[in-house]
Amino acid sequence: MSLFDQELKARLNAIREQGLHRELRRVDSAQGPRIRIDGRELLNFSSNDYLGLANHPALKEAAIKATKDFGAGAGASRLICGSLAPFHELEEMLATFKGTEAALTFSTGYATAVGTITALLGKDDIIIVDKLVHACIVDAAKLSGAKLRVFAHNDPDDLEDKLRWADAQSRHPSPVTHHILVVTESIFSMDGDAAPLKEIIALKEKYGAWLMVDEAHATGLYGQNRRGLAEELGVSNRIEIQMGTLGKALGASGGYICGSRVLIDLLINRARSFIFSTAPVPAAAGAAAAAIELVQSAEGQRRCEALGRRVQQCRTGVAPVSNISRPAQAEPDIRDRRDACPTPIIPIIIGAESTAVSAATKLREQGIFVPAIRYPTVARGSARLRVTLTASHSTDDVAALAGALSEIRNRKS
Ligand SMILES: *Cc1c(COP(=O)(O)O)cnc(C)c1O
Repeated sequence: MSLFDQELKARLNAIREQGLHRELRRVDSAQGPRIRIDGRELLNFSSNDYLGLANHPALKEAAIKATKDFGAGAGASRLICGSLAPFHELEEMLATFKGTEAALTFSTGYATAVGTITALLGKDDIIIVDKLVHACIVDAAKLSGAKLRVFAHNDPDDLEDKLRWADAQSRHPSPVTHHILVVTESIFSMDGDAAPLKEIIALKEKYGAWLMVDEAHATGLYGQNRRGLAEELGVSNRIEIQMGTLGKALGASGGYICGSRVLIDLLINRARSFIFSTAPVPAAAGAAAAAIELVQSAEGQRRCEALGRRVQQCRTGVAPVSNISRPAQAEPDIRDRRDACPTPIIPIIIGAESTAVSAATKLREQGIFVPAIRYPTVARGSARLRVTLTASHSTDDVAALAGALSEIRNRKS
């Protein structure tokens, strides 16, 4: 073994010793409530395909049509070889869907956050993020060179402390203007809880800061038109930068920013992950456009309601039998709304990394696939089983999950 490989092997061993080693599991089927792994069919509770659209015929047909009409590849960056019509159609649809002047799509949500935050902020600026924001926002903040401050999860009082500090910085006599950007998710990816958006908005307005909200886990699920939690709470037009992804409830792939025309024009000129990257495949734009149409249709409504029923079943069936308590949920005041679709993310917090991994292994032995989520995705010592439900799960599927989880608990005690 070369010295290079010996060094890397030592690093991998250190990762293993901490119970943090990860490996890819090959899946020989499409995403759905059942997936094939190692020749076995497993019940799948791991996907963010909340509405069951990733393998939906309408999305697949739209992807095939976009491929037939516009090819398998995009050729270059959209600023270099021209910008294919499917992306423009998708962006017009997104702007209409979200009720904003304009929209811009990126190849992934990760690229969206990195491109947008680095386009807006530089070393003279300040970025204040919730403690639990997604890694792409943390990476973007670091790359931007802005001063990074973290506020306690969903804690407006702590946010105000940080804003007060930032405000004092920007009052120092200085030739440059300091801008302050606050970033939060709306529904958090690993806990499924909701940000207190109204309080956050009141604070950012009080201190003259900008706000970016990542609706990756709310787009397609919340609000009258399924635009996200900001729509549900009636605050969309008070958020400067509305981010979302196309690869979760929308079942396709990519990320987007919705906002004013000048915001989008600035991103086209300054977002490096947009400028210096080949455009996504036309198929991705075709599928995402079909998904946006679908979530607003009667079928979208039915799927959301079906998901809501599975979530209720899981909350009453699974949560009480789990051996570990769930984190306190800061639910938005929407649970009683008939059209509300509660979060399909149900974390079962376990704590120790190795215990979470062995719980996931036991579930797999019973034919159920639930991922053990560990550091660095979540904090050390807060490893968990992250159950996600989709509209395609049946009541029997959820009952099977509840049974398997109680079996694990009983064996343990
Ligand atoms: C998944 C996710 C992203 C990244 O989106 P990708 O399209 O998967 O790159 C960004 N933010 C949040 C909150 C996410 O959960």
